[in-house]
Amino acid sequence: MTTIDLPLLPLGKGRDLSAERGVECPGDLPAASDPDLVARARAAKAALGERVFVLGHHYQRDEVIEFADVTGDSFKLARDAAGRPDAEFIVFCGVHFMAESADILTADSQKVILPDLAAGCSMADMARLGQVEDAWDAMAAAGIQGSIVPVTYMNSSADIKAFCGRNGGVVCTSSNADVALEWAFEQKADLEGGAKILFFPDQHLGRNTAVLKMGFSLDDCVVWDPRQPNGGLSVEELRDARMILWKGHCSVHGRFTADVIDELRAKHEGINILVHPECTHEVVLKADLVGSTEFIIKTIEAAEPGTSWAIGTELNLVKRLADAHPDKNIVFLDRNVCYCSTMNRIDLPHFVWAMESLVAGQVVNQITVDDDTERDALVALQRMLDLPGKSHRD
Ligand code: SF4
Repeated sequence: MTTIDLPLLPLGKGRDLSAERGVECPGDLPAASDPDLVARARAAKAALGERVFVLGHHYQRDEVIEFADVTGDSFKLARDAAGRPDAEFIVFCGVHFMAESADILTADSQKVILPDLAAGCSMADMARLGQVEDAWDAMAAAGIQGSIVPVTYMNSSADIKAFCGRNGGVVCTSSNADVALEWAFEQKADLEGGAKILFFPDQHLGRNTAVLKMGFSLDDCVVWDPRQPNGGLSVEELRDARMILWKGHCSVHGRFTADVIDELRAKHEGINILVHPECTHEVVLKADLVGSTEFIIKTIEAAEPGTSWAIGTELNLVKRLADAHPDKNIVFLDRNVCYCSTMNRIDLPHFVWAMESLVAGQVVNQITVDDDTERDALVALQRMLDLPGKSHRD
């Protein structure tokens, strides 16, 4: 059976909380030009006090980050939320899948709020459950399903994490993807030809990890395109592959190109190229250092004054790093402005609206994951937490 899926829409109509695609936000928002927005946000936060805990992802705007109680990557923030069981409301300034993870990891009594429902993630939306189930059926028909361990990146919807939980798989972050893959291969190591991994939604993280950290070749990897019959792959290609990479990518990190690296190296002698592993394989091959957002932040913090850096990750974070380290020369690894458009949908008017609604006793834009999905997603998340070594940051 083939699931008919709509093309990726950045902004749809109505409420579709099971999708990462954006939906219109209900409610009357304050005008973006309102000069009192900062004072209103402060007043609402003060009125809520300990009842509210505000999380700010590294890629959020400065105007929003200013009100975050903690900042971090998606998994750290979900764990931070779990560490505040006394907070009645968790206001998640990030994107939809992150708020879902926070809801999974927090108590049922806590309410997770996403200030703008249009803040989805285009990468997470590239692997939808119906598509993944179709692929799974096709892999059964090809006779390889029994040798596959599914691995999903943290940047996926709750129902994809639940799929992994139900099918012997695991969640990973960009920090522990190699450890998660090692674990996954071990699960079926006794099979003739070894295990295969179905990795989603980010083909680049999957490929970069398999080839650069685990010693696989590019020929060991194939790309499953959910919009093609049988993923665009022959049965032989599927049988020969060790890594079946879902055709998904990050619309921000996928923009960086190898030619800009050449240009910057020619212009700035000694410049260091620091990129996220969601970048393409060509970009990662040309970089000096590759790692998660936390790794990027720590690398810049530890860098010597006077050193030069070109950073390939979301622009809000790069600008904040440049502002925080005026003694280092920090530039953005793209010729054009490159914010995450969905992350940027969380702005001060939406934040003020969500907070003032809470003060008025009205919970808006609550993100909830149903019990069955939560149970299965937790299985896959727990397998990640049980992995040896490494931190679990993305
Ligand atoms: S930066 Fe990429 S992965 Fe992160 S929310 Fe935006 S589109 Fe999704």
